[in-house]
Amino acid sequence: MGWMVHKFGGTSLADAGCFRRVARIVESGPRVPTVVVVSAMGGVTDALFSIIDLAASGSDPTDALAAIRSRHAEPAADLLPPEAAAVFLAELDKDLGDIRNVLDALSLVRSASHRSRDLITGYGEIWSAGLLAAYLELSLGTSTPVRYVNARDVVTIAHGEMGPIVRWEESRQKCIDILVPGEPGIRVVTGYIASDAQGLPTTLGRNGSDYSASIFARLLDADAVTIWTDVGGVMSGDPRLVPEAKVIEELTYNEAMELAYFGAKVIHPQTMAPAIAGGIPIQIRNTFAPDAPGTRIAATAALREKVVKGVSAFDGVALINLEGAGMIGVPGTADRLFGALRAAGISVMLISQGSSEHSICFAVREEAAESVREVVEAAFAVELKQGQVQRVEVTPACAILAVVGDGMSGLPGSAGKFFRTLGNSGINVRAIAQGASERNISAVIAARDMTKALRAVHSSFYLSAKTVSIGVIGPGSVGSALIDQLAAACDRLREKFKLDLRIRAIGKSERMCLAASRIDLDNWRAAIDAGEAIDLDALTEHVQTDYLPHAVMIDCTASQEIADRYLGWLGRGIHVITPNKRAHSGPKETYAELKRVSHASNTHFLYEATVGAGLPVINTLKDLVETGDDIERISGIFSGTLAYLFNVFDGSKPFSSIVRDANDRGYTEPDPRDDLSGMDVARKAVILAREAGLDLELADIEVESLVPAALAGAPVDEFLDRLVDFDAPMAEKLAAARAARTVLRYVAEVDLDAGRAVVELKAFPLDHPFANIALTDNIVQFVTRRYSDNPLIVRGPGAGPDVTAAGIFADLLRLCSMLSGHDD
Ligand code: ADP
Ligand code: ASP
Ligand code: MG
Repeated sequence: MGWMVHKFGGTSLADAGCFRRVARIVESGPRVPTVVVVSAMGGVTDALFSIIDLAASGSDPTDALAAIRSRHAEPAADLLPPEAAAVFLAELDKDLGDIRNVLDALSLVRSASHRSRDLITGYGEIWSAGLLAAYLELSLGTSTPVRYVNARDVVTIAHGEMGPIVRWEESRQKCIDILVPGEPGIRVVTGYIASDAQGLPTTLGRNGSDYSASIFARLLDADAVTIWTDVGGVMSGDPRLVPEAKVIEELTYNEAMELAYFGAKVIHPQTMAPAIAGGIPIQIRNTFAPDAPGTRIAATAALREKVVKGVSAFDGVALINLEGAGMIGVPGTADRLFGALRAAGISVMLISQGSSEHSICFAVREEAAESVREVVEAAFAVELKQGQVQRVEVTPACAILAVVGDGMSGLPGSAGKFFRTLGNSGINVRAIAQGASERNISAVIAARDMTKALRAVHSSFYLSAKTVSIGVIGPGSVGSALIDQLAAACDRLREKFKLDLRIRAIGKSERMCLAASRIDLDNWRAAIDAGEAIDLDALTEHVQTDYLPHAVMIDCTASQEIADRYLGWLGRGIHVITPNKRAHSGPKETYAELKRVSHASNTHFLYEATVGAGLPVINTLKDLVETGDDIERISGIFSGTLAYLFNVFDGSKPFSSIVRDANDRGYTEPDPRDDLSGMDVARKAVILAREAGLDLELADIEVESLVPAALAGAPVDEFLDRLVDFDAPMAEKLAAARAARTVLRYVAEVDLDAGRAVVELKAFPLDHPFANIALTDNIVQFVTRRYSDNPLIVRGPGAGPDVTAAGIFADLLRLCSMLSGHDD
């Protein structure tokens, strides 16, 4: 039966609870000989490194040592019975005593050698493995033998220029001697540490436990190695920086190596080598969700996932540029340069040379930058003096960003998308490199742009190009209906059309709720009740995040304050959708500025629901204008309330009682004068006029108000009471209309030829389309050059939360169809 190797990282060994979790995973595994490689408890290796620095600088390490002691003593007391805990503590104290002795020596000489660092920093693994072994032994009883193994007794390495070199033969022999004999069961092995050729303590370097695991897998020719950590697997981006990162199901060794090299800390790049040599698959899984499958890394991987598997980045890089006309066509320049760096032991992370040979550009670790400058200046001293090499330029504070995926090879377009995304995000690329395998493309950028770049590139390769971050302001009746409609349609839109519509912010007058990914639309009402105090600036910042490709604000209020924000939103790249008429019917300069800014910033400003709710009025008009028709006249009934009042006003009841009744039923605004004044209709007339190309102001519209002047300032109740006094003139108008076989309708009419617009109560013959509308219907009639004798008519319910919300929703879908980008 083959061996299984498991490795648990420091993140999986934070405290006693973690040890229990790890033990459950090990116990529930198949009954095959098993090696469990462990890291030090989270943070312990760091603490050991800093204790060395403390001593080497002459400070007293007593407190820091005590902290390390209790870090282990606490879980030991929790996990082990007193006698076993006492044995563990006695060992721990002995080790701490030995460390203390070394630290005292370091303190005397005020320096720390490699050897002392290797010795001291390796204790973390010795303690964590000791504790886990003791705990497993107890919990498994005699059924499964458990043995602690110090990897220094097995793994022997030499230190090469490119990192540790395993002495396989020697290590394999020791492995057979120490690990294999005896009963099958569990061997708990220290990660990270090894011995050198002289048998002295050394380590595999930071984060080296992953490497330990695959070395043991190779030594034992194991069937598989599983690396347990605190995330679901290798993710498409560092989850701490890219909230949208997803677990990658399968990777090839090469892909995993590139991702790891470029900063995906979840796995150590060297881990791959022994696994590749032995053809051993590696599984990355989550200790905290042991049932999830995680990521499988093997020689081949299905390409059913993305072409680009992941994006990774690291900072702390300096870019060096060696430039000079004298280098052109001179053979051996690169050799001299990199030879000098090699001699100085400096590792180069990325190289890019212009084909003109005029400059060579390369990246190194930032700490090495100044010594690199010296080395290069010394190597080219003569050329610098003679001016053949102009300068050695060092740019600190850089980062390297890479996209990785075997599928990029031979498939055009990935580089284009990568650099286009960086360009669109305003990120300057200082150097570029592409591996000959085409498995990765990397770019050097400023370190301060790293997170933004990671997010933008991740979203362009990983998310649907139609992923939209949405903020809804004003969840009143229309806003609520919209959110509910979106909730119902979301899944279908995602599956059928790859539209990923995410409401990430909802704001109302006092509160707002924000969600990193999306608000749970089944519970949004509770979420907003439990939300924080509204802050429109913060809400805006949140909606326009750099890890999602598009942002839109939907204003469902009737507020001027919100309308005043459109300009700012459009200008910074946020699309705006609104049923709020304020901005469109305000000063024409504001309207023109909104159009200009949205055009200049490539954002869309959509407002179908400002006129006729969900009816396609604005878009019909736009289509007519854009296809070159000439609009002559637009007329119609644009107020559902007024449509209703005049549909019902048939002489059987006075007008005032119809108004009161409609007010009681909630068919009018709370103050019915807001409807009767005609101003709402006039605003719609302004919007239509402007859309048709006529520059009118609200004040230019001739409005016949149905509010008697004497009642204009009265309180609402008094207005409703005293409207009776004005029933007689209304009754007369009705009688006159009827006598002429006509009906009364409150209409707006925009006359393009005359350049004017009127809002008035007007009589229409019984066979006129305006005479035959159902209760609250709106109707619009376009008379144009093409539609002249038989005008184009749009008619239907023009008010109500559901149809208005549907109009907004249609705008949102229209917006999505206009968004650029295609998926690979
Ligand atoms: P362990 O202690 O288990 O070795 P590490 O802290 O070394 O854990 O590595 C796991 C961490 O790596 C994760 O918590 C995550 O924050 C980080 N990480 C960075 N890039 C990636 C990535 N591409 N996929 C998964 N995790 C990543
Ligand atoms: N404990 C070591 C470190 O922190 C090794 C590891 O965790 O992989 O670097
Ligand atoms: Mg690690």
